[in-house]
Amino acid sequence: MSSLSFYKKQFDHVYYTSDVKELSSFKEVCQKLDHLEFQEVVSKEAIPPEHRNQRTLLLTASRGQVLDHCPGSKGHLCCNYHTLDLYIGCTLGCSYCIMRSYLNFSPVIVNMNIEEILQEVRCFIEARQQEGKTIRIGTGEVGDSLLYDPLFGFSQRLYELCANYENVYFEAKSKTDFVDHLLDIPEKGNGVIGFSMNPPSIGASEEGTAAPVEKRIEAALRAQKAGFLIALHFDPIFYYAKWEQEYGDLIQSLSVLDPKAMAWISMGTFRYTLGLKENIANRWYLWDEFVPGKDQKFRYIQKKRREMYRFIRKNLEKHFLNAKIYMCMESPAMWEGVFGKKPRKIPELCAIFKAI
Ligand code: SF4
Repeated sequence: MSSLSFYKKQFDHVYYTSDVKELSSFKEVCQKLDHLEFQEVVSKEAIPPEHRNQRTLLLTASRGQVLDHCPGSKGHLCCNYHTLDLYIGCTLGCSYCIMRSYLNFSPVIVNMNIEEILQEVRCFIEARQQEGKTIRIGTGEVGDSLLYDPLFGFSQRLYELCANYENVYFEAKSKTDFVDHLLDIPEKGNGVIGFSMNPPSIGASEEGTAAPVEKRIEAALRAQKAGFLIALHFDPIFYYAKWEQEYGDLIQSLSVLDPKAMAWISMGTFRYTLGLKENIANRWYLWDEFVPGKDQKFRYIQKKRREMYRFIRKNLEKHFLNAKIYMCMESPAMWEGVFGKKPRKIPELCAIFKAI
């Protein structure tokens, strides 16, 4: 459900900074959330401590660059994704969310200066047009790309902009089924809607109020029928008694999707930082054997990761033959163990793994 009544129930307080009050995007949201009082503040820090939580919305303008190369992970191969900070924070409440380690006391922040953001994206793309390399940009790094999008409508502007460039893929990544406001965009170009995938049992126990996985698949089908490319993100993959059965069933249920509309499929096993572990110490999946990586993140031991990746890849390839299937933040050794080579040597993957 992504109607106005849904958003009216999401927030108790709205704050804004003075630099957005003349923006049409701000005026529109004032009208939509007219049951709430909008209060001006000089910065996030000026919000009263008792309101610095996810029931509060902060509407502000980005300061400095919002488009950046994905920070990647030391010692791991990077897929050259570019992240765009638009909606920062998320109320879906996944137990494993990395933001639990650093955004706990923060309101949901929305960068309202969409015209400046579009200009930043345009300049970034045009500076690289000569090179002709594939450019992937997504908004799902610091929050869910579509959870608040029906209220603000910014993704449509990004799809429309990126549709002008043959080598650019813009991806909104989500655990919701909020796609219907995007379906009628006339020019989708290489527009991608990405969905996080986990078996229904994991969705129900660990992914808070995210849409049930079956609903995400239905949304993917609607998006694909409307002309979007689809991406699937098996991340985080968990190891548990029935993992083979449940991931196998999940992949089987994805066979309703057209392989030709699959932009890419990523895989990443569950990983955590010590900061995250401190906040989720009671979760069952921490009772496994983990090893620290060069990036100070803890992952399942290599043997288990290899086993999971091989299994999922093998099952995916039964339906999505020649799809761009890759691992997120994994070591060269793991690439050798799962794919037999590094990604730049894999024809389907070399375009996205080539540095921009
Ligand atoms: S959907 Fe993503 S950002 Fe939102 S809580 Fe879950 S993991 Fe965190």
